[in-house]
Amino acid sequence: MQRVAVIGAGQMGTGIAQTVAQHGMQVLLADVDQARAEAGKAAIDKALGRLVGRGKMEIAEAEALLGRITPVGDYAPMVDAELIIEAATEREEIKKSIFEAAGKVLGADAVMASNTSSIPITRMANYSPDAARFIGLHFFNPVPVMGLIEVIPGLATAKATTDRITAFAEGLGKQVVLSQDEPGFVVNRILLPMINEAIFVLGQSTASIQDIDKGCRLGLNHPMGPLELADFVGLDTCFEIIKVLYATTGDSKYRPAPLLVKYVEAGWLGRKTGRGFYDYSGEVPVPTR
Ligand code: NAD
Repeated sequence: MQRVAVIGAGQMGTGIAQTVAQHGMQVLLADVDQARAEAGKAAIDKALGRLVGRGKMEIAEAEALLGRITPVGDYAPMVDAELIIEAATEREEIKKSIFEAAGKVLGADAVMASNTSSIPITRMANYSPDAARFIGLHFFNPVPVMGLIEVIPGLATAKATTDRITAFAEGLGKQVVLSQDEPGFVVNRILLPMINEAIFVLGQSTASIQDIDKGCRLGLNHPMGPLELADFVGLDTCFEIIKVLYATTGDSKYRPAPLLVKYVEAGWLGRKTGRGFYDYSGEVPVPTR
């Protein structure tokens, strides 16, 4: 694969664009408009600057990588892309409008993939021009660091598409886990109930934010506690995923914790807004309760 397009230039889209460009491919990066796409590229520039500063990447490599990423304000240039990866906000109506618009320029042999954390692939495939060439390609955050990608074929996805996308994912130096198209796939099906339960524990004042995270770091040997991780993922994204799990299974064990709803309604979405379960305005994150 030589030419890839990424739609959505937030934390995941920029990480995906960076990783794909690092592996020598040309990347078109889009968001709601040209300015947001440019801001995405600027965020990648900053991340590369940190790698160069720490001696983990040569300046020449960073410049070449950045040169392979082109921010775009519309989908027309994606006509030549062999793969279009959607990594926009976790809301089905947003993704639907993207697949319909990008579908108009999708090449006859190109694949359309979604980085959704939870929305059914089989259903979203109907919004694209060819369900046989539609697939779930679920990266983990931060993309350049995390070694896993879940590949999720929908009911109508052709085997050739799954094989091609698995080879693409492995070509990025990642390990692949193949998941059936079931709610939350594999990892989020396990992770989100844990994060949601941690928020119930906090809401019931069983323990403080710090102690819940400390308990899971030391007691479960997790590198991050569930509330730190929720802030890292984005509380809006966590809310959308748990809502999809609840809606698609009808199982009350997935009902969103009321405190999660409150944080999202307050606009406290975690690291990306500077405040979630922790306040990130100072040198060291401080618990907000
Ligand atoms: P984010 O909020 O950081 O970024 C979302 C981006 O989508 C924003 O830049 C926004 O402007 C853009 N966007 C919104 N509407 C758009 C549209 N109509 N067209 C183009 N761009 C649009 O969110 P994120 O964390 O990058 O999540 C993006 C996707 O990746 C979601 O589906 C999420 O579930 C999934 N995901 C997130 C994580 C995580 O840890 N955050 C991990 C794996 C997968």
